[in-house]
Amino acid sequence: MKKIAAFISLGLILFIVTSFVNSSKEERETPKDKSPKNIIILIGDGMGISQMSSAYYFQENENQEPNFSRFPIVGLSRTSSAKEKITDSAAGATAISCGKKSYNTAIAVDVDKKPIETILEFLGKKEFTTGLISTSSITHATPASFFAHAKSRHMAKEIAAQMPESEVDFFAGGGLEYFLDKDEKIDIISHLKKNGFITNVENLIAPEQLEKGNKYGFLLAKDAMPKMSKGRGDFLSDATDLALNYFDMHDRPFFMMVEGSQIDWGGHANDADYLIKETLDFDKMIGLVLDYAEKDGNTLVIVTADHETGGFTLAAKEKKIPFRGTQRDYKEIGPRFSTGGHSAAMVPVLAYGPGAEIFSGIYQNTEIHAKIMKLLKVQ
Ligand code: MG
Ligand code: ZN
Repeated sequence: MKKIAAFISLGLILFIVTSFVNSSKEERETPKDKSPKNIIILIGDGMGISQMSSAYYFQENENQEPNFSRFPIVGLSRTSSAKEKITDSAAGATAISCGKKSYNTAIAVDVDKKPIETILEFLGKKEFTTGLISTSSITHATPASFFAHAKSRHMAKEIAAQMPESEVDFFAGGGLEYFLDKDEKIDIISHLKKNGFITNVENLIAPEQLEKGNKYGFLLAKDAMPKMSKGRGDFLSDATDLALNYFDMHDRPFFMMVEGSQIDWGGHANDADYLIKETLDFDKMIGLVLDYAEKDGNTLVIVTADHETGGFTLAAKEKKIPFRGTQRDYKEIGPRFSTGGHSAAMVPVLAYGPGAEIFSGIYQNTEIHAKIMKLLKVQ
C-alpha cells in the first residue's frame, strides 16, 4: 500500500514538474499577451485537407518538405454559409473578411444585402498599409470580398469601379477588362491614377522601382492570370515579395491578403494535375511569407481556404487486371474527385506568429476574423 502511494505521489510530482517546464518553454516562445503588428492572410481557394496533402506527395523534389509543415498551429474551419450548407467563394471570403456569414454570391454584404465593413477597410482607416494579390481577376469573389461590396459576385465591373476609392494601397492580379474597355467606355485606370495609383498592365516592377507614398495597381491579364501549366511562372511569389518590399518602405503596420485562386479551378475541372501545380505554387509563396515573418517577428500569418472543391481524394491508384477486375495499388496515388462543385468538408487553418496559438481547434470561418480582431486589440 505504501509503495503504491509513493508511486502515485512520485508520478504526480513528475507530472507537475514536466507541465511546469513545458508551459514556461511555450511562454518563452510565444509571449501570451504579445499582439501582432502585421496581418497576412493567405487563402487557397478550394484548398481542403487533400489538396494540402497533395503537396506532400507531388513535390518536384521528393525530399522537399512543403512550407505547410512550418506552421506550429493547426485548426479547422467550418465553411457553410448563412443560407447554404455548401458555401461559394463569395460567402466564404465574406465570412473571413467581415466575420459574418452571408448568402452564396454575397460580396461583403449581409443577408439583407447591406454592406459590412471588411477587415481591410477597418484596418486601412487605422493607418494600416494594405495589399491584395490574386491569381484570378482582382474583381473575383475572394479578393473582391476584401475591398468591395456587391449583392452578387457577378457584378465584376461594379466591383472594379470601387477599387479607386477603396482602402487598398497595393494590388496585383488579373482583370484588366473590368477596368479598361473602350467599347463599353470603361476607364477605371484613369480613376485609379487620379487617386494616387501607379498602374501597370504589362508586368510587375522591380522592388527598387517602388516609391514611398505611391499606391500601386498591377493588372496583368485581361481576366484571370494564366494557369501555372500555361506559363504563369513566379507571379504569385514575385507579387507577394514586391508587396512586402512596399510595406517595408512605410513605418506603419500592414494587412495583406494573397490568394491562390486556381486550386479551386483545378477542382472544378476535376483536373488533379492543374490542382496540384496550383497548390505547389501557393505553397512556394507561403515559404517566402514565412521567411519574412520569421525575420520580422511581429507578423501573424494565417493560411486557410474558403471551402474545399471537387471532393478531392488521394485514393490508391486503381488498375484493371484481366479476369481479376479492379485492384487497388496502395503503393501509388490515383487522385479522384466526387463532384465538379464545392464540398462542405472542413478546411485547414495554419497559423504562425504572435497570437497564433488561438487558431487551434475547430470553429466557424467567421471566427478567423474575430480572433484577428481580438489579437490586434483595436476598437
Ligand atoms: Mg477565389
Ligand atoms: Zn469554386
